[in-house]
Amino acid sequence: MKLEDLQAINAFLPEALHMCRATAVSGEVASYIPELSKKPKEALGICIIDRSNGCVTAGDVDLPFTLQSISKVFTLILALMDNGEEAVFAKVGKEPTGDDFNSMLKLELVEPGIPFNPLINAGAIVISSLIAGNSPQEKADRILQFFRKISHNHAIHVDMDVYASESASAHRNRSLAYFLKDNGVLTDEVDVEEVLDVYFRHCSIEVTCKDIARMALLLACDGTDPVTGENIIPRRYVQIAKTFMITCGMYNASGEFAIGVGLPAKSGVSGGILTLLPGRYGIAVVGPALNSKGNSVAGVHLLETLSAKFNWSMF
Ligand code: GLU
Repeated sequence: MKLEDLQAINAFLPEALHMCRATAVSGEVASYIPELSKKPKEALGICIIDRSNGCVTAGDVDLPFTLQSISKVFTLILALMDNGEEAVFAKVGKEPTGDDFNSMLKLELVEPGIPFNPLINAGAIVISSLIAGNSPQEKADRILQFFRKISHNHAIHVDMDVYASESASAHRNRSLAYFLKDNGVLTDEVDVEEVLDVYFRHCSIEVTCKDIARMALLLACDGTDPVTGENIIPRRYVQIAKTFMITCGMYNASGEFAIGVGLPAKSGVSGGILTLLPGRYGIAVVGPALNSKGNSVAGVHLLETLSAKFNWSMF
């Protein structure tokens, strides 16, 4: 398999973008968090960064958007770094659910009532409770500082409008969290509203494609910054995160994405997708119009097109 270099990808991007942007009309911008609905439906942008800091971009690459579920990959990593594997997996499972990302079905149906994995909302809320810190502010701040470090952008911050909108409309997440409290997964000393606040804040961190392409590149390089050589994340935790991205990173279309694109990825309801080519590229796409599975319509289409053209699939 010959992998093309960034120049070849760059030459193909305008045509690919033009083709894929047209598919956005069939999607809808998420509106259950009202503030998210303000993003342009037809936007599509991509950024790819390689190990030597080479970067290609195309389209609406400067469109700011919030991380939403993409943040869950990195809070999982931070929780693993804070607590170790055994403590984390005593509280969340390792399996896909086949249910919606905010479903509570299996929490009651299956014993023990721990969330199936850390990338669904119930699992990510439990992960938020495992972040080290003496107060919710300190936990949220540690997450933000970690995200700033791995994105190489010390200016990223919480979008307070999205945060407020998310907090005000989070009836479902509140139900999940109180259920987790009732069945003891969130323990007695955990304050449910405080955990939710940490969760809402990390979902509402605003980024651009360039920020998350850098975060993806770190995963592509097994946790070692390719430029400075600093090991930031233990390799084992990157391996765990990438495995979850393959099995449950793209909601209930993770199998379809693994077949169509063949790369570890995580999407969010804001229309972002973070993906990576192991050892080579960090890749980020934004396209706010979502398909029925909750993934960016045009974004998935673009990644399928690039993967087919440049033979990206790991499988
Ligand atoms: N903050 C969103 C929620 O809790 C994240 C959902 C997502 O991006 O999948 O519903």
